[in-house]
Amino acid sequence: LSEDLMELKGLPAETPCGYRVGLYANTGLMSDITSSLSSGCDGIGLHRTEFPFMVRERFPGEDEQTVVYRQVLEPFSPRKVVLRTLDVGGDKPLPYFPVREENPFLGWRGIRLTLDHPEIFLTQLRAMLRANNDCGNLQVLLPMISRLSEVDEACALLTRARRELEEEGIQTIEPEIGVMIEVPSAAFQIRALADRVDFFSIGTNDLTQYLLAVDRNNARVADLYDELHPAVVRVVDNVVREARTVNRPVTICGAMAGDPAAAILLLGMGVQGLSMSVSSLLRVKWVIRSFSLEQARELTNRALTMDHPADIRLMLNEALEEAG
Ligand code: PEP
Ligand code: MG
Repeated sequence: LSEDLMELKGLPAETPCGYRVGLYANTGLMSDITSSLSSGCDGIGLHRTEFPFMVRERFPGEDEQTVVYRQVLEPFSPRKVVLRTLDVGGDKPLPYFPVREENPFLGWRGIRLTLDHPEIFLTQLRAMLRANNDCGNLQVLLPMISRLSEVDEACALLTRARRELEEEGIQTIEPEIGVMIEVPSAAFQIRALADRVDFFSIGTNDLTQYLLAVDRNNARVADLYDELHPAVVRVVDNVVREARTVNRPVTICGAMAGDPAAAILLLGMGVQGLSMSVSSLLRVKWVIRSFSLEQARELTNRALTMDHPADIRLMLNEALEEAG
């Protein structure tokens, strides 16, 4: 990173007009925790919990998981940490839990798998709650939600995990709960979801894949995969608008949040937070400190009228260039 960007480290992610955006890190490995701690971020906006499950030969037990989650929550306390429940299947298979499917991305992944195996889900929730007891900064995030009943079931299991722990004499702190907006159907149920949860996190990686019907990992169709496709921009904008009417904060946690050009749009939509890999944090902070809310809004409104991804990208790149 250039010297100029390094100077931003201790400065707030605030627009020249005084609008503050939460800047968070996406983590998964322990090394991500170390690097985010020294990055000056506002917390962890997405901790992917799959890695300890992928490197073992069996499901990690409750005690093992508690240790891992405490290592994530503790160093950041009181800054918030979003732990996402297990999102295996799709592009994240478990060697000791083989699932054979024709279309894994449309199959048994994320919340679908863990609701079918409540023992796996309960173990993870109990470990998260136990780890949070010394910290209190836990927020729980549910992946791959496509229907309301999944949220209801997941919340019931969270309540059950708390009740069981308390019956065992372990006091718990109620965590905030949020859903990933990454399946198109979830994007059209914001009001009803808001009755059930505290916050939203838009997973633009999967949302783009599912909106455009383009495999996010297939090189042959990589040209068609574009977060600046007008349909993606409009759906994200709609979610942010709807969430505002029901007073629920929205964070973007897909790769879109770490793209400086896209960050202008997200700022213009009025998102509360952006969560990204640590390596993108300072560049995005620079964007936020360079554009007033009004400038960003104007660019967003123009983008919302455009027909082609390339036109949107060109306009944003020109704006970036102009800003320096
Ligand atoms: C996403 O889908 O945008 C996301 C952040 O989750 P993951 O990349 O882990 O699927
Ligand atoms: Mg996803």
